[in-house]
Amino acid sequence: MKFLVISLVVLLAACAGEPARSSAAKGGAPAVAQPPDPVQPAPTTATAQPQAPARQAAPEAGFRDWVDGFRRQAKVSGISEATLRATLDEAQIVERVLELDRSQPEFTRSIWDYLDTAVSDTRVSTGRDRLLSHQDTARDVEARFGVRKEIITAIWGVESNYGSHYGSYKTIDALATLGYDGRRDDFARRELLAALNIIEAGDIAADRMIGSWAGAMGHTQFLPSSFVAYAVDGDGDGKRDIWGSIPDVMASTANYLARARWQRDEPWGVEVRLPPDFDYAQAELDTRKPVAQWRSLGVRTVQGNPLPQLSAASIITPAGARGPAFLVGQNFRSIMRYNNSTSYALAVAHLADRIEGQGAFVQGWPRGEAALSRTQIKAMQARLNELGYGAGAPDGLVGPNTRSALRAYQSDQGLTADGFPTQSLYRRLLPAAQG
Ligand code: CA
Repeated sequence: MKFLVISLVVLLAACAGEPARSSAAKGGAPAVAQPPDPVQPAPTTATAQPQAPARQAAPEAGFRDWVDGFRRQAKVSGISEATLRATLDEAQIVERVLELDRSQPEFTRSIWDYLDTAVSDTRVSTGRDRLLSHQDTARDVEARFGVRKEIITAIWGVESNYGSHYGSYKTIDALATLGYDGRRDDFARRELLAALNIIEAGDIAADRMIGSWAGAMGHTQFLPSSFVAYAVDGDGDGKRDIWGSIPDVMASTANYLARARWQRDEPWGVEVRLPPDFDYAQAELDTRKPVAQWRSLGVRTVQGNPLPQLSAASIITPAGARGPAFLVGQNFRSIMRYNNSTSYALAVAHLADRIEGQGAFVQGWPRGEAALSRTQIKAMQARLNELGYGAGAPDGLVGPNTRSALRAYQSDQGLTADGFPTQSLYRRLLPAAQG
């Protein structure tokens, strides 16, 4: 997952000047198996890129060589000698970063487990407290950027639990370690150079530049390149401080969403009830229809209210036909630009609504279902391919191709074709498989 997301960040960073971040940058969460975006390249696995043995023999010396090489590159890019001394002279290899980068979780969480944590009652009540404590700031930021204040607060809550958990790694050390390790060389060099530029600009001192093991920094978990592009000085002290200034944190988050095409006064979406004959092949973010068309197909809000006006409206059913359904629009996609995951976006959207005082989702999740492991998903993908259903290269991640193959299989088997992988579907496909 994280390799693939990092690749996506690199890919998206090249286009359109729009933001692109990743859950990997903040150290893994959300750990829900996510559908890869169709433009994402195939994931790179840890085993596919063996390390140079010399590095294992003398990591410290190899690390210093890498840092010296990077230092020359940074000097050519215009970083001052003073900044180079303050940052790279002190840089240290962090073994834990290497361990975390190499671990690929075998087990994924179901979306309901993830949401239970991400939108817990405590997080809702803390969000209300935070919003109350910073209400003037939040109102100003909402007016300036046109982004709903509860959404800004919810991102703050999901990214760093309102600043209480944003990581304890020195960003310079973490990125230098990843760069030296070599598996993410381009990513690490680009982000490390951006980090040096931030220090050069005087926004933060090197020793206060703290964040996740994978380079995401401060309350908003911005990668250095995102910081350079989107961080904002909200309190007017001339520095952009996403580690210590809540006005800067809120303004930076709002600016990021505004630049990711946030639509003022438009909701993120709404929980809906689908008609019994609904074609679940339509439940993909890539399928966009005018709201009126969804209405004519029989889509209704769970309360029976009129569907809200949304631009680029899509239906999502994150747990298939037996879980809740949502009609989502551009603002849901803007949240996904912050972190390319439907589970993440749903957590932020729902937390915002709960902070505002709205209730829990009406439709229940299929809580009896145990999430498939990556190995199980890979085996299922291979089996679907064998049977001629075209699930794409088995990668252990459920994306649009896998869902489409599953739907075709389910349809041929006379089952509800919702494309949601379950243990019983796995057993039907692979009756001889263990576990
Ligand atoms: Ca500031």
